[in-house]
Amino acid sequence: MVASARGMTRTDQEANEMLYFRACPKCRTGTIEHNRDPYTEYLQCLNCGLMRDLPDNTDAVTWLKQLKIEFEAAAIAEAAEEAGVGASSAA
Ligand SMILES: [Zn+2]
Repeated sequence: MVASARGMTRTDQEANEMLYFRACPKCRTGTIEHNRDPYTEYLQCLNCGLMRDLPDNTDAVTWLKQLKIEFEAAAIAEAAEEAGVGASSAA
């Protein structure tokens, strides 16, 4: 082990950048970049620009899954609205 008290430096954080290919919950084909600055961690899609802060104690893979569910639910709701399902707006 080479870990020391100075192990967690800013250079370490930069080296921890991760890419998730075709993992974007919004555009689906975009590459997600896991970034961190001194204050926060965030995920950004290099394709569509979607950007979300990573909640504390949540890893990127879990968060991406959660976002995907969110976007799918939103897409379904939108499609249902377009199809007029459950909506009695027609007079
Ligand atoms: Zn995207």
